[in-house]
Amino acid sequence: MVVRAKKAFIEGRFKEDVELAIHRGIFEESGFLIGSKKLEFDVIVPGFIDSHTHMWQYGLFISRPNLKETTSIKDALEFIESVVNSGAYRPPIIFEEFDQSHWTEKRFITKKELDRVTGPTPVILRRVCGHIAIANSAAIKLIPPGTPGVDKKTGLLLEEVPLRINEYFPPDYEDIKLAILSAQEKMLSLGITSVHEFGSPLIFRAYQELASADLLKIRVYHNFYERHLDKIIHLGLKTGFGNKLLRIGGIKVFMDGSVGGKTAAFFTNYVGEKQHGKLLRTKEELEKLIFKAQDNGIQLLVHAIGTRAIRTALLAFKNALAGGNYLRHRIEHFEFPEEQDIKLASSMGILISAQPNFVTRWGGINGMYHQFLGDEIWRLNNPFKKMSKLGLKIAFGSDAMPPSPSYGIKGAIEHPIPEYSISFEKAIELYTSMGAFFSFEEDFKGKIEPGYAADFVALDKTSPDFKIQSVFINGIRVSG
Ligand SMILES: [Zn+2]
Repeated sequence: MVVRAKKAFIEGRFKEDVELAIHRGIFEESGFLIGSKKLEFDVIVPGFIDSHTHMWQYGLFISRPNLKETTSIKDALEFIESVVNSGAYRPPIIFEEFDQSHWTEKRFITKKELDRVTGPTPVILRRVCGHIAIANSAAIKLIPPGTPGVDKKTGLLLEEVPLRINEYFPPDYEDIKLAILSAQEKMLSLGITSVHEFGSPLIFRAYQELASADLLKIRVYHNFYERHLDKIIHLGLKTGFGNKLLRIGGIKVFMDGSVGGKTAAFFTNYVGEKQHGKLLRTKEELEKLIFKAQDNGIQLLVHAIGTRAIRTALLAFKNALAGGNYLRHRIEHFEFPEEQDIKLASSMGILISAQPNFVTRWGGINGMYHQFLGDEIWRLNNPFKKMSKLGLKIAFGSDAMPPSPSYGIKGAIEHPIPEYSISFEKAIELYTSMGAFFSFEEDFKGKIEPGYAADFVALDKTSPDFKIQSVFINGIRVSG
């Protein structure tokens, strides 16, 4: 098979009129004809590598009944009743994405109203932000007593339960596998051919079973949460174990929360509040963990968003990285770095996993970041070009909010702070080859080059509003 494209992304820029032969899923030099099949495309780029996503959780999210289209409380309650009565969903039934501002009544549904249409079936309505939910009487009974943010009287659930919905209401194992397949289909259609996923031993097992059944197509670099670190060490597993389809990544650790939940840790207060978020661990605690992971050959992925979380995480890395960052430890998000932090991270060789879609979604003028943090802090948000100029290695991911690379690339190119915006070419590089580097896979994927896996995406144009035409993994068409 021969792939011809008017433009192909090779060596970090677009080259005109490219022809490449594909031999058993590998790009070969031009002219190496196998059969006569010829594919013609406008633009080809390497398959997108989403360096930070939540594939199985996203799959559950899209598999659930959704309230986004409902226009009033009456409308929503009728829909909820019909879903409950249909028997199509295993209880507890979680409805996603209600937004009372779209309802004519402009208020939340009460527990009483919910109970009337759901009867004894446990039902939870999760708000579009993910931080608020409403539970009916049957669902409230399933939540352990003493759980924070739970108002048994009104059914209102704040933060803890809605944010960790899959822990409080664990999905059925078979449903997890189906969810992964639903997410995979959606992600492939967006041009994503590899993901850096976050899960537990159970989720990893689900991926293994899907791979054995030949159902897993997307390449998965599977990271685990901190609570699984000891198990992984005891088994002797190290970052990188696995194959080109499914591989063990590192351990995810949280330094702070999120701006949306006003739990990201800053040095200055949130607008109109007397608090600036809170660190989830001290520098010393993180340092201990870094040494433990490092002594056992495990990469760390440290979630840090606010100025204070970022500074503390960087200082914790200092001693451990004296000999270099061989395990490619990363900071996830790194959204509000000050210049000294960028320089420090760069001097230590720490990798930055960034989510440009957060800029599209929350980073604009008068957007959520601006409103919650004020002008001065907002001006620090996601300085991609500055970070890149100061030598930081960055890879792009989506955090599945939403998973679309084109939505994210738009944020990187049309950054509201013009000095921070990067070119389309640079954005493609961060969404492809850099993601491969972050998972130690830069030798075989992330580039359109002879000897590399034939994971590639055909686009209609070289601007962020591109449409995906076809998606290939290992030279096999998987979407479009
Ligand atoms: Zn995440």
